[in-house]
Amino acid sequence: MLTGTCHCGAVTWRFDSAPTSATACNCTVCAKAGVLWIYGIEGEDVHVTGPTTRYVRADHGALEFHHCPTCGNTVSWRLAKPDDTGRTQSALNLRLVDTPDAVAHLPIRHFDGLNTFKAQPDDNRRVKEMWF
Ligand SMILES: [Zn+2]
Repeated sequence: MLTGTCHCGAVTWRFDSAPTSATACNCTVCAKAGVLWIYGIEGEDVHVTGPTTRYVRADHGALEFHHCPTCGNTVSWRLAKPDDTGRTQSALNLRLVDTPDAVAHLPIRHFDGLNTFKAQPDDNRRVKEMWF
């Protein structure tokens, strides 16, 4: 299990699985926010507690990004609609993790959300090399 907290402490997340990687995406939202994502299912392994504001891209309504209304940190995204099994895919911003050393070893997966919308080849970077 991992936990994360926004800068002011108003919003926390809990991830009940063990992540095997973290994803850096270069889409227009993720690049500006500088996030690293870990993926899960809302209400199963992904849990967010506290008030959040919701941002939906005008050109891409499938995703909701959630932020702390006080400090502005990006907390998570979730699909606006559940899938055919009623489950809602979500992702947590690993940069809010309370225990950075516990995830420093995770490999980075690069997702080209800007152009091809496809995963890119690994470049052997780890989370610890993306903190700064
Ligand atoms: Zn906050």
